[in-house]
Amino acid sequence: MDENESRKERKRIRQREYAAANRKKTRQATREWRAKNAEAIKAYRKAYYSAHRAEIVEKARENYQSDPELYRSRNRKWYASHREAANQSSKDRQKKNLPAVRQRQANYREKNKGILREANREWRKANPDKMRACKRSWNSRNRDRIRETARAYAIVNAEEIKKRAQVWRKENPEAKRAHDHKRRARKRAADGSYTAADIKKIFDMQKGKCAYCRTSIRDGYHIDHIQPLSQGGSNWPKNLQLTCQPCNQKKHAADPLAFAQRTGRLL
Ligand SMILES: [Zn+2]
Repeated sequence: MDENESRKERKRIRQREYAAANRKKTRQATREWRAKNAEAIKAYRKAYYSAHRAEIVEKARENYQSDPELYRSRNRKWYASHREAANQSSKDRQKKNLPAVRQRQANYREKNKGILREANREWRKANPDKMRACKRSWNSRNRDRIRETARAYAIVNAEEIKKRAQVWRKENPEAKRAHDHKRRARKRAADGSYTAADIKKIFDMQKGKCAYCRTSIRDGYHIDHIQPLSQGGSNWPKNLQLTCQPCNQKKHAADPLAFAQRTGRLL
């Protein structure tokens, strides 16, 4: 060993001895140096990572494969102690990427419109039971919405519906007769009855106003079955209400529609 080498060796030994004797001090110094140069260290690590990304990823994969259970348990441990932050960052990432994801999905749908429509049709044809169940479930969840839509449709299209119903009745006189007959039979068969005094009482209870729109009905009113006779409603006073002429007409505008629907002419 020449003079130079042995001097270097002696210096290394001295350093090691110093570090061993002053472990706390040197660690503290290292920590301080790191804190002071945190940004530089971060930048260095980042640069190193992007320059060696493929190797690092490959090495990590190898490590994982060599003992998956070890890495899985480490991941679990890390997740357990960083749950909040991990969830939040995953949420943030999703939120950040959502518009892009939605856009990609929309692009895909737009680009494959024909194929998707065809596939959809095929699926529906292959799964009629599922389709029926789906429709039934939607209908039962949206009863009010369906009723509202039908009512709005009936009001908006009252004239046209009336005309269509008239035409249909003219073209199908025996069906119309059967319908009227059924209605009369229903009325006769319906449970309950009311007197003029009952109507007077209802009139007073409604303070002389239409049950629907609250305009005055002192000049005339219609007696309306709250639950229609066709749906099992009774003739008892508690199933009756008084309405103005326009509201009565609006309500009956829905009847030709329902009638036409029952006979399979609409929708
Ligand atoms: Zn009214």
